[in-house]
Amino acid sequence: MAQIAILTRKCTGCALCVGNCPFGAMEMKDGHPEINAACRVCGICVKNCPEKAIMKLETRVASVDKTQWKDILVFAEVSGGRLHPVSIELIGKARELAAPLGWQVKTVLVGSGVAAFAEELRHYGVSEVAVYDSEELSYFRADAYASCVEDYIKAVKPSVVLVGATSLGRSLAPRLSTRFHTGLTADCTRLELRENTDLVQIRPAFGGNIMAQIVTTNTRPQFATVRYKVMDAPSRNEAASGRIDLRRIPRSVQESRASLVSVTPVPPKKSISDAEILVVGGRGLKKESDLDMIRELAALLGGDWATSRPLVEKGWTTNERQIGLSGRTVRPKLIITCGVSGAIQFTSCMNASDHIVAINQDPDAPIFKVAHVAIVDDLYQVVPDLIARLKEGRV
Ligand SMILES: Cc1cc2nc3c(=O)[nH]c(=O)nc-3n(C[C@H](O)[C@H](O)[C@H](O)COP(=O)(O)OP(=O)(O)OC[C@H]3O[C@@H](n4cnc5c(N)ncnc54)[C@H](O)[C@@H]3O)c2cc1C
Repeated sequence: MAQIAILTRKCTGCALCVGNCPFGAMEMKDGHPEINAACRVCGICVKNCPEKAIMKLETRVASVDKTQWKDILVFAEVSGGRLHPVSIELIGKARELAAPLGWQVKTVLVGSGVAAFAEELRHYGVSEVAVYDSEELSYFRADAYASCVEDYIKAVKPSVVLVGATSLGRSLAPRLSTRFHTGLTADCTRLELRENTDLVQIRPAFGGNIMAQIVTTNTRPQFATVRYKVMDAPSRNEAASGRIDLRRIPRSVQESRASLVSVTPVPPKKSISDAEILVVGGRGLKKESDLDMIRELAALLGGDWATSRPLVEKGWTTNERQIGLSGRTVRPKLIITCGVSGAIQFTSCMNASDHIVAINQDPDAPIFKVAHVAIVDDLYQVVPDLIARLKEGRV
């Protein structure tokens, strides 16, 4: 970590640094420069200050002995009385990553009555299922859950910890990475493991314009969250493997500063991430009522419907129906996009679908780069025609 500091006793207030900063990160206040949030710590101001009144301060990052950390730990999430399927997907990915290094895959379950799920996890090739099962953990309190996972991490020292990018996981993972003073990459879309055990955490960055490769070089464990439906789920083994480790609840759980005031159960909702067939409307739709034909086509195919972000921004639907970086990741067997251009923020969250059919009147639309079937035509011709054919049983 580096930062820029200004030595006010040396600064003459010449304001040269304000003009030199390419990011507009220097502002004059009361005759002296101040650094704002736009600073990229590029050091141009340091080099050009005639009074040597600006310094770059480097903080040395503590590093750990990486050889002491091995294996991969998956946080197995139980919420609403069910094992979240993202946990199984993460176990599959963890096994794939661990195999070349001869590492093991371990899981940790936290909650009340969760011991029952430990047996099920043993059918996915894990070497150990750690269980923190207590009444005190009957609802999610981030600090108490973090204390349990922290306890297990300290006991087994995994090199990598994978957590589902669910509401619960997004609250838990940063707390854990802070406790270990180590890195966390949220919403990874790909993971690779180098021979030196550094996890390459790949995810879209800068509004989806680049795929960043993020590596935690000095510290362990390496925390990553991954969204549901991004990784392949492994098949369930008939035979169970691995041991169940019933863990003692750490004392710090009782010191949790969160307490339950009330619970309002949210009725279970169907998510577009679970759909096997999806019909998607994009900005090519001219008016809100045109979504009716998208819904009708979806219903005739026995599927669900979704949209790109502009339709959510117009208020035609809610974020729960939005595919993309700021919406949901989907991976259906069949997806039909209608009037969607195929921006990276959209395609990166649907391009693993089995069959992609794209309808767009622009032959150069980027959506055709990921489509298996490209229909270059007016959606107002194609969609009603498909609906008519399905109704007549001609498809
Ligand atoms: C940080 C960030 C996050 C984002 N997150 C998301 C996200 O989660 N989801 C998302 O969708 N976007 C997201 N975006 C926005 C994204 O960049 C695009 O702007 C958006 O996906 C475009 O939506 P669209 O394809 O529906 O609209 P457009 O890009 O406007 O495309 C409309 C398409 O319809 C076609 N068309 C028009 N009329 C017809 C017709 N009659 N028949 C056939 N085709 C027709 C046009 O040729 C065009 O290709 C994000 C952007 C940023 C910066």
